[in-house]
Amino acid sequence: MTSNVLATHMRFHTLKRTLRFAETLARTYTKASIAGLPTYVKIVEVGPRDGLQNEKEVITTHSKIELINLLSQSGLPTIEVTSFVSPKWVPQMADHSEVLKGITRYPNVTYSALTPNLKGFQGALAAGADEVAIFGAASETFSQKNINCSIEESLHRFEAVSKAATIARLPMRGYVSCVLGCPYEGEVKAEKVAHVCQELIDLGCYEVSLGDTIGVGTPGAMRELISVVSKVVPVDRLAVHCHDTYGQSLANIFAALQMGVSVVDSSVAGLGGCPYAKGASGNISTEDVVYMLHGLNIKTGVDIQKVIEAGQFISKVLGRPSHSKVALATKSSL
Ligand SMILES: [Zn+2]
Repeated sequence: MTSNVLATHMRFHTLKRTLRFAETLARTYTKASIAGLPTYVKIVEVGPRDGLQNEKEVITTHSKIELINLLSQSGLPTIEVTSFVSPKWVPQMADHSEVLKGITRYPNVTYSALTPNLKGFQGALAAGADEVAIFGAASETFSQKNINCSIEESLHRFEAVSKAATIARLPMRGYVSCVLGCPYEGEVKAEKVAHVCQELIDLGCYEVSLGDTIGVGTPGAMRELISVVSKVVPVDRLAVHCHDTYGQSLANIFAALQMGVSVVDSSVAGLGGCPYAKGASGNISTEDVVYMLHGLNIKTGVDIQKVIEAGQFISKVLGRPSHSKVALATKSSL
């Protein structure tokens, strides 16, 4: 081996060893499973959609496809690939069909797409989406500023998508944004969130993801939210979607797991933000969530090393460091 190749080889093994050491250490302290926590958590990777649509840089279709293919190899069960929204609204997602058609399909991965209206749904169906997602806000002002209509109107608009999804037999997932706070209204009532969740379930969603869009929530608020919402929607049909603006995501996710939630949305390298919520960070990184879950002896089926590599790829494309602490720690320990 030349010295360069040898150095790269050594670095790779050091990285793997450091990660294994950290994971083993975490497990040692969790000899028994903590009571009340799930034994398996399903991770929904939202980086290619929620993440990239909020990045300022324009990412080429080729890079998006490469990212999704890398994520597919990591064992992630669901990847939200793109959004079939008008390019006028979200230019970053203008290549939705090309991306969905261009990826290599892995048999154990569900590839989903956000579909804001019937036209979007038809596009997603034609391009081969396995699943679609619709959304509503828990804050009236956020709904008006984000999609120019009231919460009720926005949900009404999804009736056509719901009918079409039923006919096409595509599972439909729901998102509720601003569940723990709104950039315009401040506090959001848990009862209001529960109401929107109920409406999404009534529209035919098999699951509703509770989005702390601006990342202001704390674990106590998350517990309270889930206790109120789960009176209306069973907890096994709830997911959490935490942005990390105030660094509370992992604590909030842990609180949600203790309340019985076992589906967590996350974004490779912590990609993203929210264009309508100033200062909001991206989602909690997939790397950090997987690290915490594995440390808790919770199975995910995800190879953390492969997610780190996917994160390194997209961070390089974006020309900035990853927002994942785990990725940074394994890198700095080289
Ligand atoms: Zn989000």
